Amino acid sequence: MSDKIKRFIECFIPVTTCNLRCHYCYITQQRKFSASLPIFEYTPEHIAKALSKERLGGTCFLNFCGGGETMLPPEITPIVRECLKEGHYAAIVTNGTVSQRINEILEFPKELLERLFFKFSFQYLELKRLNWLDKFCENIDKVRNAGCSFTVEITPSDELVPYIDEIKQLSMQKWGALPHITIARADNKPGTPILTNYSKEEYKKIWDSFDSPMFTFKLPLYNQKRREFCYAGVRSFCLDIKSGDIKQCYKGESLCNIYKNINEPLTLRAVGYGCKEPHCYNAHGFLLLDDITHFSDLTYADIRNRICTDGSEWLTPKVKEFFSSKLSETNEEYNCLQKSVLTVKNFAANIFSIKNDYKDGILRKQIKILGIKLSLRHNHKRNS
Ligand code: SF4
Repeated sequence: MSDKIKRFIECFIPVTTCNLRCHYCYITQQRKFSASLPIFEYTPEHIAKALSKERLGGTCFLNFCGGGETMLPPEITPIVRECLKEGHYAAIVTNGTVSQRINEILEFPKELLERLFFKFSFQYLELKRLNWLDKFCENIDKVRNAGCSFTVEITPSDELVPYIDEIKQLSMQKWGALPHITIARADNKPGTPILTNYSKEEYKKIWDSFDSPMFTFKLPLYNQKRREFCYAGVRSFCLDIKSGDIKQCYKGESLCNIYKNINEPLTLRAVGYGCKEPHCYNAHGFLLLDDITHFSDLTYADIRNRICTDGSEWLTPKVKEFFSSKLSETNEEYNCLQKSVLTVKNFAANIFSIKNDYKDGILRKQIKILGIKLSLRHNHKRNS
């Protein structure tokens, strides 16, 4: 039977330094290059145990992504290896230039590599400036030849526009297809607008020429507040891989620390109707995987894969199948009562910041009763 995604876990690697200086990146803007590498307090074995398949309820998709370059800390190699040994699928988001780390990872046994996916951020201008284009392309070749899946993605910036033709030519020659296109965010501005001086129409026209389903999916959602019921916090969550703290989503409530009491079940709670983000800027992950049930017919595989000119594909059949599954296939759908109770729980945790008191049981009971009352009233109104 094929593997299906039980949970999507955004694993944040707290590295705030990078070997590139991309002008649009917040590390560059805030001049954080000298920041040292993180010191991991827990062993890779402990981390993998905390993330065991049994504890998480099934096979999960772990997305390893650093604030700076993910592959700089040496610990990334054993952490990814142990998590793959647990039976999960892993993605590593990287600029593709830390050859030593890539070489170490490609030493893993084949049965681990076939569940590994590399997301190569193609920083064309920086690679050109440093004369590292060959190194980047060689690393992608190595990953592909080792039986891993990969994708190549461009963060579109206005400075890159004059180079579009040469980027396309190189991509077709090296990878048999064009890179996918994401969206650059102005993180330091209220509402996190798109980082460009072009109008939205011009921006669309320029970057649509890559024919990337990722871009086609993301652009219309940009700046659209999500008001549907979102299962982030249960079907997915954000993990700080160093501390073990987990949150519902980027701006969601803290849930628990998964490294303490690793034999205890996880405390999970969905965001529900309370998304705190102005818009779901990583909707291509969370929403395509179905944090909002049946959000789109597109799959995560659709926005990561490419079919090359020679008929080969960027995703291996195994990863493609896994990335084609949806979280709603492996997780229950809440009924009206459960959603109402959850809304009250989130309200309490949010407004009164009483997460710890809430755990003592008395208050939980009261909230539950309140939730049931509200739900009954709601149902009564609907039926009358
Ligand atoms: S809608 Fe997106 S940003 Fe909001 S809670 Fe859900 S996954 Fe997170």
